[in-house]
Amino acid sequence: MLKDIETHEVLNQPPPLEGYNLFTSDRVLADAVSREGAPWARSDLEALGSLAGEPATLELGRLANVNRPELRTYDRFGHRIDVVDYHPAYHELMGTAIGFGLHAAPWSDPRPGAHAARADKVITRYQVEAGHVCPVSMTYSVVPALRHQPDLAAQWEPSITATVYDPADVPAEGKAGITCGMALTEKQGGSDVRANTTVAEADPTEPGVYRLVGHKWFCSAPMSDAFLMLAQAASGLSCFWVPRWCPDGSRNPIRIQRLKDKLGDRSNASSEIELAGVVGWLVGEEGRGVRTIIEMVNHTRLDCILGATAVMRQGLAQASWHAAHRSAFGRLLIDQPLMTNVVADLALESEGATLAAMRLARSYDAAEGNEHERLIQRLVTPVIKFWACKRAPQHAAEALECLGGNGFVEESPMPRLFRQSPLNGLWEGSGNVICLDVLRAMLREPETIDAFWAEMALATGADPRFDRAVDVLKSELAATDSIEGRARHLVERMALVFEAALVLRFSAAAVADAFCASRLDRGAEAVFGALPPSADTRAILRRSVPWAG
Ligand SMILES: Cc1cc2nc3c(=O)[nH]c(=O)nc-3n(C[C@H](O)[C@H](O)[C@H](O)COP(=O)(O)OP(=O)(O)OC[C@H]3O[C@@H](n4cnc5c(N)ncnc54)[C@H](O)[C@@H]3O)c2cc1C
Repeated sequence: MLKDIETHEVLNQPPPLEGYNLFTSDRVLADAVSREGAPWARSDLEALGSLAGEPATLELGRLANVNRPELRTYDRFGHRIDVVDYHPAYHELMGTAIGFGLHAAPWSDPRPGAHAARADKVITRYQVEAGHVCPVSMTYSVVPALRHQPDLAAQWEPSITATVYDPADVPAEGKAGITCGMALTEKQGGSDVRANTTVAEADPTEPGVYRLVGHKWFCSAPMSDAFLMLAQAASGLSCFWVPRWCPDGSRNPIRIQRLKDKLGDRSNASSEIELAGVVGWLVGEEGRGVRTIIEMVNHTRLDCILGATAVMRQGLAQASWHAAHRSAFGRLLIDQPLMTNVVADLALESEGATLAAMRLARSYDAAEGNEHERLIQRLVTPVIKFWACKRAPQHAAEALECLGGNGFVEESPMPRLFRQSPLNGLWEGSGNVICLDVLRAMLREPETIDAFWAEMALATGADPRFDRAVDVLKSELAATDSIEGRARHLVERMALVFEAALVLRFSAAAVADAFCASRLDRGAEAVFGALPPSADTRAILRRSVPWAG
C-alpha cells in the first residue's frame, strides 16, 4: 500500500535558464555593440544570441565536454596517424561558430565595426561552450601574423576566412575551409619563448622550406590544418607556417605524444607534440619570430578578454536567474538585501568588463590609420587582459555560490564555468608577464600613456572619485622606483579607471555611482556583495538582467 505514495513534490527549484536570447537579454552588450561601431550587425547578433540560448545548443556544450576528445596515435597496422577524435557536438559547435564568421569575418569583410561585431559573437558563443572558441580564436589571430609573408597570406587567406568548417583529416590544399593553431610553449619555457630549443634548418633541396626538429609542450587543437610555430633558425628565433599535411599528400611528422588532462576547457584537445623534421615555411624575417608572432598573440589576448567577459556575464545570468526563482526564509533570494547586493556587484563587474572589452574591440577596428586607437590598442589590451582575467575566477566562484549546493553539482553549468574561469589568465601571457608588458609598452612608447590619459580626460569631471583616482594613478606612475614590483597594483588601477571612465560615460547613473564607490573609493579587493548602502542595487539589476529587476 505504501508503494503508491509520492515521497515528495519538487518545490522551489528554479527552471533551467534556457530558451532566452543571449544578445537581446544583455542590454549592456547590445548597447556597446552599437556604440562601438557595429549597429549594422544587429540582426546577425540577434540570430546568434537566440540560437545560443536554445536548449539543444546548450546541450551541445554539455556533450562536447563530458565526451572528451581522444587521441589515436597509431592505426591498426601500426602506422602513426596522430588523430584526435571529437564528439559530434564539438564539430557542430565549430561549424556554427565558423558559419557566423567568428574565425575571420573582420579579415574577409573589414568594414568599420567588424571586430566589434565579432567580439559580441565571441562573448555570446563562449557562454555556450568555451573550448571550441580556442581554435576559432587561433584561426582569427593567425591572419595578421601570416600577412608578414604576403605570398603565404595570398595562398591561405581564402581558405582560412571561408565560412566552411571541414574537419576532414586531409591536406589543406583540398579543403574549402581550414582552421589554424599555434605552438610556441616548450617544456623549459612558455612565457620566455626565447628559450625555445626547437631548431629549424633550411632545406638545401627546396628553397624557402625549413625542417623543424624539437617539441612543443602545449599545442591546442592539434587537428588544425596548419600552425604557426616558433623555432631557432640560423639567425635566431623565427616563425614558421607548418601544415598538418605536406603538399605532396604525406603526413607532416607532427607527433601527438599525448593529450593534456586539464582542469577545464575539456572539449578542446590540448596536446604535447614532437616535431620529427616537420616541413615549415618561414613567416616574416628569420630571427624576427617574436615580432611576427606577437601579431597573433595580440589578437588572442583580445579573445582572452572576451572569454573572461563571457565567463562573468554567464555567471551573472545564472546567479541572477537562480536568485530570481528561488525563495528562502519567506522571500525570493533576489529580494534578500544581502543577495541583492551580491548579484548587483556581480553585475557591476560584468558591465565594467563588457564596456572595456567592446571599447577595445573598436581599437582593433580603427588602429590602422588612427594613431590614438593604435596606442590604446597597444596599452589597454594587456591592461584589461590582466584585470578581466583576474576577476573572472572570483566572479565565477561567487556566482556559483549564489546557486547554493546546486551550483556545485556537475549537472549545473556552474562547475564547467568555474573550471574554465582561470584559463584566460594563463593564456597569452600570465598575470605577471602581462603586467611587465604594460610597463614595456609605456617605456618603449610613452605616447601610449598620453593616449590613455586623453581617453580618461573624456570622463573628467563626471565624478570626483574618478578624478581623484586618476590623479593618484598619475603620481604613482610618475614614481619610477621599484616599478616592476608595483606593476600589478598599477595595472589594476589602470584597468579600474579605464572601466570607470566608460561606465561614467555610458552606463546608468546608479551603475556609475556604485562602480566609483566600490571600485575607486573603497578598493577592489573587497569581496563581491559589499556595495555601500548608498548603492541603488535594484536599478543596477534592472539594467543588467531582464528577469531580476
Ligand atoms: C589549456 C592550455 C592550452 C594551451 N595551449 C597552448 C597552445 O595551443 N600553444 C602554445 O604555444 N601554448 C599553449 N599553452 C601554454 C600557455 O601559453 C603557457 O602555459 C603560458 O604561456 C605560461 O607558460 P609556462 O606554462 O611555461 O609558465 P612559465 O613561463 O614558467 O610561467 C610560470 C609563472 O611565472 C610567471 N613569470 C614568468 N616570467 C616572469 C617574470 N619575468 N617575472 C615575474 N613572473 C614571471 C608567469 O606569470 C607564471 O605565473 C596552453 C596552456 C594551457 C593551460
